[in-house]
Amino acid sequence: MKRLFAVATLFALTYFCAAGQSADSLAVQPIEPVASPIVVDTLATESPALSVLLFNDGTWRYVQNRTTEQDSLVYNRYWDNDNISAYNSMPKDSLPSSVAINLVDSLKSYRYPYVGRITSRYGIRHRRPHNGIDIALKVGDTICAAFDGRVRFSKATDTGYGTLIIIRHDNGLETYHGHLSARLVEENDRVVAGQPIALGGNSGRSTGPHLHFETRYLGQSFDPERLINFRTGELRRDHFLLKKGYFSIYSKYSQDFNAEAERNEAEKKETALSAEKRYYKVRSGDYLGLIAKRNHTTVSALCRLNGIKSTTTLQIGRVLRVK
Ligand SMILES: [Zn+2]
Repeated sequence: MKRLFAVATLFALTYFCAAGQSADSLAVQPIEPVASPIVVDTLATESPALSVLLFNDGTWRYVQNRTTEQDSLVYNRYWDNDNISAYNSMPKDSLPSSVAINLVDSLKSYRYPYVGRITSRYGIRHRRPHNGIDIALKVGDTICAAFDGRVRFSKATDTGYGTLIIIRHDNGLETYHGHLSARLVEENDRVVAGQPIALGGNSGRSTGPHLHFETRYLGQSFDPERLINFRTGELRRDHFLLKKGYFSIYSKYSQDFNAEAERNEAEKKETALSAEKRYYKVRSGDYLGLIAKRNHTTVSALCRLNGIKSTTTLQIGRVLRVK
């Protein structure tokens, strides 16, 4: 034991001496200018258009190859200029249970498509699924692309959407913009985040000028409020974990939010309740009446809290809840 201690002390001394020595030698050496981080590795990702650069200071960032990207699977698979749904032939079981979507980084930017008063949310409306969100606007207001991408669909339709523009984005998401009065981009056009793509309107099944905005992944819609705060136009997060459960029309962001708030409330109550709880350890000579009196409660309250009868024999050392 003594020897072990000695070894440990020696080790510690050696360590501190070494540290001291290196500090001294640093002090006499000329200070080198701080160099910018050096790339130590490039990692491939699932997307051939995207690599990760690792730097010697432990940081990393994505790099994108625009030429590769435009030929990537996002734009080559299920690319359809004539149908609103492009993924109909995709097997349903090929939907991933969850997918991490990188919305914004040093190379990807975002701009709100349109900010205004929400007049209808994602979910069931008049017993029919409403697969997007409605935002009130004035006819002729400018609508922008949310992320970089390519126009997959740009047509006046005789469907409920009216004039509709669908953009497929580099991140794999598709955004739908319905009830438009004018189209500013054509199919297969490359667009960047913030680029005006259309003017708002009242075409299709619409009872007043508004933008119908949908977010979809592999053809499946999910609540756009999961991505965007339409009151401020801000993106809720830079990296989004899209879960399969979100594709249900009943899966709403606001519900999650309420559920979370309820959970927090319940937890608070629980904490408050447990803070109020008081316990008493039965001593020699104790009886229920005495314990009740000592703890400013009643025998019946003690019986209720502990699930006992007034006639129950109390073992010494038994812990009773008194409050
Ligand atoms: Zn709508």
